Amino acid sequence: MEEFEYFSPTDLPQLLQLLASPGGRILAGGTDLIPRLRSNTLNVSALIDISHIDELRFIREDAERVYIGSRSSYADVLESTVLSQYAPVLVQASRLVGSPMARARGTIGGNIGNASPAGDSLPPLLVLDADAALVGPRGGRVLLLEELLTGPMKTALAPDEIIHHLSFPKPPAVRGFGFEKLGPRQGMTISIATAAAAIEINSNNKISAARIALGAVAPTPIRCKAAEELLIGREPEEGAWKLAVEAALKKIAPIDDVRATADYRRKATGVLLERALASASEMAKRSI
Ligand SMILES: Cc1cc2nc3c(=O)[nH]c(=O)nc-3n(C[C@H](O)[C@H](O)[C@H](O)COP(=O)(O)OP(=O)(O)OC[C@H]3O[C@@H](n4cnc5c(N)ncnc54)[C@H](O)[C@@H]3O)c2cc1C
Repeated sequence: MEEFEYFSPTDLPQLLQLLASPGGRILAGGTDLIPRLRSNTLNVSALIDISHIDELRFIREDAERVYIGSRSSYADVLESTVLSQYAPVLVQASRLVGSPMARARGTIGGNIGNASPAGDSLPPLLVLDADAALVGPRGGRVLLLEELLTGPMKTALAPDEIIHHLSFPKPPAVRGFGFEKLGPRQGMTISIATAAAAIEINSNNKISAARIALGAVAPTPIRCKAAEELLIGREPEEGAWKLAVEAALKKIAPIDDVRATADYRRKATGVLLERALASASEMAKRSI
């Protein structure tokens, strides 16, 4: 490992001061960053450890929205009654994250900052219409999560910015969610493909709202808006899911890698999305 300086700020003003000097890299849980540092694939002159900044670790709600501090871990997500009510899709994805260690140390902010196309929290956050509040020495700004994720391991964060928190509008109680993940094995695994879905069904048994997001099959996790629109006004049944799958598969660009071939990813995505839509629809029906 290359040598680097290490800073451990305990509040936001200290952190912003450190971010004003170039060359620093944020360290949260370290579950992505430390392996990359060990393999010397990153050039870092200073690590800024945010794990003692308690004001970045919270999950709360107001009348309209839910807020997740970037330092919240998957374990925090699993314990949150606010998220079990308003974001069961994120809770489900967090439960499937690799290992008890990764769930305890890994953070939502780190999953976004790492910007892997296979990051498991990202499709759920996309179907929740999440945006990210960023902060840096020059002030703050808000970006849609889709705008923040720009490519494999790339974000629109400026070098002196951090993700402060994520937020999303509270979904109506009648919205159902589904999440499906395929990995090479059950535990300790990075996804081969993921699918997240959200569905609302009206009293005429027709789909009135839909959200679809896919992971690990394009340079970033993606929303599939054409597929969502196709579902509106249709009955929630297999024929509708097949149409949505056909439209969604046109948007993906999977690659061959050590975990799977592009062809396998494409086939798996169809199955995962159909299952996610069916689960979301069942949940929506139970809430009517
Ligand atoms: C055994 C194991 C199993 C795993 N299983 C999964 C899995 O199933 N699914 C999955 O998606 N991932 C998995 N991972 C990867 C990892 O745990 C997650 O991506 C995790 O969310 C990373 O969070 P972290 O806090 O550890 O990030 P870190 O490693 O600390 O940081 C990751 C990147 O994000 C940046 N960053 C961190 N916080 C911020 C912030 N607030 N603002 C701006 N940038 C920031 C860092 O600078 C760095 O570039 C696994 C890792 C391990 C070691």
